[in-house]
Amino acid sequence: MRAANRRAVLFGLCATAVTAGTLGTSQAMDYSDPDTMYAALRNRQRQTITIGGGSIAVVFADRFTESARLAILRWVRRAALAVTAYYGRFPVRNYAILIVAEPGSRVGHATTFGYDGAATRIGVGLDAGSDAFDRDWVLVHEMVHTAMPDLPRRALWLQEGNATYVEPIARALAGQLPAADVWREAIDGLPRGLPQATDAGMDGTNAWGRLYWGGAIFWLQAEIAIYRDSAGTRSLRDALRHINRASGGNVANWDPELLMATGDAALGSDTLGRLYHRFATSRMTVDLASVFADLGIADDGEGHIMFDDRAALAGLRRSITL
Ligand SMILES: [Zn+2]
Repeated sequence: MRAANRRAVLFGLCATAVTAGTLGTSQAMDYSDPDTMYAALRNRQRQTITIGGGSIAVVFADRFTESARLAILRWVRRAALAVTAYYGRFPVRNYAILIVAEPGSRVGHATTFGYDGAATRIGVGLDAGSDAFDRDWVLVHEMVHTAMPDLPRRALWLQEGNATYVEPIARALAGQLPAADVWREAIDGLPRGLPQATDAGMDGTNAWGRLYWGGAIFWLQAEIAIYRDSAGTRSLRDALRHINRASGGNVANWDPELLMATGDAALGSDTLGRLYHRFATSRMTVDLASVFADLGIADDGEGHIMFDDRAALAGLRRSITL
């Protein structure tokens, strides 16, 4: 069972930050095999943070200065507060993070696994300062991955799209990102997920833009469909919280059909199941300009986001980041 699970998740779930490369020192260890990561998380000294009912073990794979370790622990706490704001609690009871040193001053590449416990391996620049940590989205993205059960490879777009969609909203809910920035990212990013002429349904897609932003388009469409079908009484957050509670997070292996049915059970509808089937099996074009107009979001042409509170879905837009 474990071996099968491990095969299914060998690639893990990644954030898309630029990889800074490897340390040019003989001490640098390679933790790219997740079993090596799990061994380090089990055997090395840890510092534990408790937030939202979750226990977060932080393990430093490499030597950081005392002030760097304190800044990293603050950053982990901040990311955990964001996902706790979205899910109403930290999404898994036990979570572990392996901090791997990299050259440079930014947060690097990260991958999250669940087959041997919810865990993330993340690169951190040895010269990273508080500005890099305060602006970081990667760790929140990874923590969002822990909230959803692991899915078969064909449904990777649902997982990456969900983390892409939820991450800025979670930060906004925690007061870490202005609502305008959430929608700035949507306007800039979502067009990258639209299908090409030769694209079919989303299941099995491997293209980067489709996996992350195409998946995020699905979750935004789900948000809108739930709002419309429930006359504004239910939200995607309700469904995702229920899926999280019912599954226990990414330590479970589910099929996308069960995921949607569980979300729909919280909504008392078949909204998610029907939308998933359409996105998975057929080429879905979405008129993003109309979506943004309905939500009352516009770019003033000088880089500022303008909100229109008379738009048809302005109430939904406000509720998403409230
Ligand atoms: Zn990811």
